Amino acid sequence: MIYEDTLKKLEKSKNLLVEVFGFDKNEIENFWKVFSLPQRIFKAYLTLKKENGEIEIFEVYRVQHNNFLGPYKGGIRYFPEVNEDEVKTLALLMTLKNSLVNLSLGGAKGGVKIDHKNLTEKELENLSREYVRKFYDIVGPDKDIPAPDINTNSKIMDWMIDEYLKISKEKNINLPENYLKASFTGKSIDNGGSEGREEATGKGGEIILEEVVNKLNLEKPLKVAIQGFGNVGFNLAKFLYEKDYTLVALSDSKGGIYSGEGFDPNLIMECKKEKGMIAGCYCRGGVCDSRFGKDITNEKILELDVDILVLAAIENVIHKDNVNNIKAKIILEMANNPITFEADEILNEKGVLVIPDILANSGGVTVSYLEMLQNFENKKWIKEEVFEKLKNYLLNAFNEVWDIKEKYNLNLREANYLISLKRIFEKWKEMI
Ligand code: NAD
Repeated sequence: MIYEDTLKKLEKSKNLLVEVFGFDKNEIENFWKVFSLPQRIFKAYLTLKKENGEIEIFEVYRVQHNNFLGPYKGGIRYFPEVNEDEVKTLALLMTLKNSLVNLSLGGAKGGVKIDHKNLTEKELENLSREYVRKFYDIVGPDKDIPAPDINTNSKIMDWMIDEYLKISKEKNINLPENYLKASFTGKSIDNGGSEGREEATGKGGEIILEEVVNKLNLEKPLKVAIQGFGNVGFNLAKFLYEKDYTLVALSDSKGGIYSGEGFDPNLIMECKKEKGMIAGCYCRGGVCDSRFGKDITNEKILELDVDILVLAAIENVIHKDNVNNIKAKIILEMANNPITFEADEILNEKGVLVIPDILANSGGVTVSYLEMLQNFENKKWIKEEVFEKLKNYLLNAFNEVWDIKEKYNLNLREANYLISLKRIFEKWKEMI
């Protein structure tokens, strides 16, 4: 049960609320009874008529974990392993993340248990529209605001918002279209999306990593391995490449590539688009040649002797069976929950600096929030303005976390959770 596992990771920070801030122990325990459960769990079975006339049924979820700080917000993923426990956990992480970055938002997550590669484009569109029909009543700018996640993107968000507006019209909802458009974020730019949203999670990872590197006085070039070369992994790779990190290994679900000299992620992406996978894309200076690198498995990429290991794929990739093979000194959690509770404890004992997901990947939801503000005000900010605001949010969170980590000798995860829980607890106290 990864939900229970994640609560275990939070336990120490919950207790620290009493020790560090002097909150009443009984009040914290009462708060915990409420906070440790998701507020609402929606599960439905969605019917899809395929283009060949067959009917297929899919399990779909929306979990609204907590809305003390504002409307629920979180992505929707299309993935074969989606299940209630996973969606609950991801929703909890969204609650923590939004609080950490000080956004007026709660946490939610959605999922469809599906291998999206088995659907045609039209079927994918119909499935996405059907998801909105199932959950229309619980979604909206003041209720719950979905966004992209694994295997969902701006095209899917555009279908979803289009369906949402259509249903709103059928129901004679008399609200301005620009306001209703804030019901989904991660839309395409022409359809009310924000400049920079596509790259935002990667950009946020770069901002946070640079801060850590500066605090630790590390000297570049630093060797980096990245597991996961999708939206997050690729964009982060691009920003790190511009900042002179050496990208020695990259991978996607079909395997990875390694070169001691480092790769140019832009060339690798061009090659991946042509071949449909990253394996074999040993590109340097415009030439892709097998002499420039070698294949590496997704297991081995985790075990490389690098300065920084980036986890940008899926959950639970570092666990009790492989944690002792990890050699990286810093791990940047761009994926949600990529390290199990047990493995996290061991990494901590070994002195590995783990930059936790709720900080490292918070750039995405922060720019989603900025997208909502632009929709409300019917405005469009340029990318530089968006990134400037993003940087402010993330640096405020980072500095708050780093100060408390130093002052109380905590690890980064404990410090992140402590700041995040404090804000939610204080709001809860005002409410009861
Ligand atoms: P994506 O679908 O664009 O990319 C996922 C990447 O991971 C792909 O390259 C895929 O091939 C690879 N992958 C899948 N299974 C793998 C496996 N078993 N081993 C190695 N690689 C594997 O998704 P994304 O949006 O880049 O999301 C990646 C992670 O970041 C997810 O955990 C997601 O929850 C998290 N995240 C995403 C955002 C966002 O804005 N997109 C924000 C916060 C967190």
